[in-house]
Amino acid sequence: MTYVIAAPCVDVKDKACLDECPVDCIVEGASSMYIQPEECVDCGACEPVCPVEAIFYEEDLPEEWASFRVPT
Ligand code: SF4
Ligand code: SF4
Repeated sequence: MTYVIAAPCVDVKDKACLDECPVDCIVEGASSMYIQPEECVDCGACEPVCPVEAIFYEEDLPEEWASFRVPT
């Protein structure tokens, strides 16, 4: 399991989550930030700081945003 950044981040990318991640596994993609699943330690620190609620525990990711899951 990992955390996933979904559609609300697209074109927002304010990077508030970056400062919270203890392992620096959040990186910038073309249109949104994404979390490198193999590096994420599931600490949850990034989730509450996102102003647009784009970050989900993988299990709680809404189905409509399933494509935001990063393949491992
Ligand atoms: S805090 Fe939310 S909106 Fe901002 S970069 Fe991170 S995931 Fe995207
Ligand atoms: S859950 Fe923790 S380790 Fe994973 S991306 Fe968020 S802050 Fe980083």
